[in-house]
Amino acid sequence: MDLARLEDALIGQPRFRARQVWAWAARGARGYAEMTDLPAGLRERLAAEVPFSSLTLEREDRSRDGTLKALLRTHEGRPVEAVLMRYRDERRSVCVSSQSGCPLTCSFCATGQMRFGRNLTASEILDQVLHFRRRGAVDHCVFMGMGEPMLNLQAVLGACARLPEVGVTHRRTTISTVGWLPGIRRLSESELPVRLALSLHAPDDALRSQLMAVNERYPLAGVLDACRAYHARRRRRVFIEYVMLAGVNDRYEQALALARLLDRRAFKVNLIPFNPTDTAFTGSGPQAIAAFASALRRQGIPTTVRLARGRDIDAACGQLAARAPAGAGAAGVPAGPAGAG
Ligand code: SF4
Repeated sequence: MDLARLEDALIGQPRFRARQVWAWAARGARGYAEMTDLPAGLRERLAAEVPFSSLTLEREDRSRDGTLKALLRTHEGRPVEAVLMRYRDERRSVCVSSQSGCPLTCSFCATGQMRFGRNLTASEILDQVLHFRRRGAVDHCVFMGMGEPMLNLQAVLGACARLPEVGVTHRRTTISTVGWLPGIRRLSESELPVRLALSLHAPDDALRSQLMAVNERYPLAGVLDACRAYHARRRRRVFIEYVMLAGVNDRYEQALALARLLDRRAFKVNLIPFNPTDTAFTGSGPQAIAAFASALRRQGIPTTVRLARGRDIDAACGQLAARAPAGAGAAGVPAGPAGAG
């Protein structure tokens, strides 16, 4: 819901009304009609004046593993994708977009191939979470959808500040960046104890610059120093995201080079099986990923391998591109601005 518009519509009402409305939305209400402690006339006026969500659902796809991907539209029609991942241990994690499209152009990412739309507002980010909250409780949130969150940090932090009321604590909220240095520094200074993830993907500047143009602007050494400063302040490990690309970044020597870069107390590596996109890359096989993980662990670096979720509906990391999954029955959406971090 557009919270600024809500405040305007409530001018003249008791001050607690806006919080009352938000509290209902945060608990998963589906509309103003459910807000039984609001006067009936006010509920009707709000329904007429303030759309219950700042985003409109265009389509939703369900993966065989239970993952849900929603394609939503802003009021002017820009695409936004959000994903709900459900795990056997009952965790329910929402992956949200911070931008429609992405101005960066990481070579392995479907979002990076799209045109950039614009930054999303804090309300538009929250409405992605609320979309899934209306289906049941959610308890984790990751900013790994379309866009680079550090390029829209004020809105991202504005959304994070309200997430605990939706059921997601700050410690279960993770902001992922490709290494936008000023944003990492600003996040370190913020009071919100959210978690930081760095998409690294290469153990040296030459390869990283090939994969991610942002590395030309902010090379590895400075970015890792900023992450260490974040860890020193927060005492929480920084997640290192490393997508496994066959023959590109998955060799044994590269695992050793990665281990040399990282301090085991400050970092934890998360290896990501590569999800097919319209790019020239192919993913490393399970054996190569397992060998890379064990090389890192032997060097003392805490390492996990991410479970692939939602591959069959293009909902996995790097696949968000605001289009229908291959073979989907429903009407598709032309590829347009939208992204995945
Ligand atoms: S990986 Fe993230 S920052 Fe890079 S192009 Fe994709 S969405 Fe943008």
